[in-house]
Amino acid sequence: VNCRHCGAETTLPLVDLGSAPFSNGYLSKEALRAPEKWYPLRVLTCTECWLAQTDDFADREELFSPDYAYFSSFSTTWLRHSECYVASVVNRFALDGRSKVIEVASNDGYLLQYVKALGIPCLGIEPTASTAAAARGRGIDVVQEFFGVDLADRLVAAGHSADLMVANNVLAHVPNINDFVAGFARLLKPDGVATFEFPHLMRLVDGNHFDTVYHEHFSYLSLTSATTVFARNGLTMFDVEELPTHGGSLRVYAQRADTGRREASTRLARLAKIEVEAGITSRSFYTSFQAKADRVKDDFLAFLIEARRDGKAVAAYGAAAKGNTLLNYAGIRPDLVRFVVDLNPAKQGKFMPGSRIPIVDEQHLQREKPDFIVILPWNLRAEVTEQLQYVKAWRGRFVTAVSKLDIDS
Ligand SMILES: [Zn+2]
Repeated sequence: VNCRHCGAETTLPLVDLGSAPFSNGYLSKEALRAPEKWYPLRVLTCTECWLAQTDDFADREELFSPDYAYFSSFSTTWLRHSECYVASVVNRFALDGRSKVIEVASNDGYLLQYVKALGIPCLGIEPTASTAAAARGRGIDVVQEFFGVDLADRLVAAGHSADLMVANNVLAHVPNINDFVAGFARLLKPDGVATFEFPHLMRLVDGNHFDTVYHEHFSYLSLTSATTVFARNGLTMFDVEELPTHGGSLRVYAQRADTGRREASTRLARLAKIEVEAGITSRSFYTSFQAKADRVKDDFLAFLIEARRDGKAVAAYGAAAKGNTLLNYAGIRPDLVRFVVDLNPAKQGKFMPGSRIPIVDEQHLQREKPDFIVILPWNLRAEVTEQLQYVKAWRGRFVTAVSKLDIDS
């Protein structure tokens, strides 16, 4: 297998999760009568550029099907995060009514709504029809396409150029990372800024977040590998922040390599040094991960089996992609986890891929009163626990499996 960035052969394994269907392949009731396709799921690391990556064997049109339905606005934590971000960059880069903000993977307009509210012109780029339509419903212009050099050039030809480009949680999800990053260098104004947020590989490994591995998540980036990918595609980083989102993310600030004049911050140099000291450019950092992932999986499975033997009912909350990785790697079926509650009406009535656990609405939870509720998007534990306080009335207890099994008392 060749590295999706530099083309060198990738030989260093990070984790092998056997095989799984696509994490976003939610099944209709009719589809339960048909077989499912399972694909190998493993992450390999390139020892030339240190980009960790999944094997690439499916085309993106199959992965991002039209009914793929993740709406960012369903998470209030994420909305708050986005509102704070907008306030911060508008202030830092002095954006106003003469500026232009372009967001790639603008989803349902969860972020650009705050830009628009400040009277700053903005444009969304989003290939998924359902979320693009939701953003247009908020009055936001959306180009419904995948982003890359080709689209960037057409937008430039149509008179677009950006003071700020935003890419949150999309860099890791693009199959052709070089073409994607190069598009930013084309579409930015000479002194424009692009910010990218992505899960930090160092935190993923530290925190045992093996469930954030799935087919749609192509790249697992460190500051080290992202710096290399950017440099070879016309962008230079000048700042970085560490964020708590998704169990530990990076927000990097980049400018055009040819025209950007901002000086690199000291925290950029500091984090680069921390990564090297943590071993990000050594093989052992990667080879130690499988055993940690297996321990999390074994502990979770032991908990479910014990609960079943005790006659306790276990349900789950949040039909998230990471939940599918955990459930399928552990081989869990509806006998161990009876149902998954999700607020998104597009997922209700469907079934989790692989595990085939039914996805239900919140009323179902209130009727069934399970003894344990496993929060699959563990990064939202505080938010979900607060939202579902009423389960305490029947002594329901919350559980998360990652970073380690955690059952509240
Ligand atoms: Zn490479």
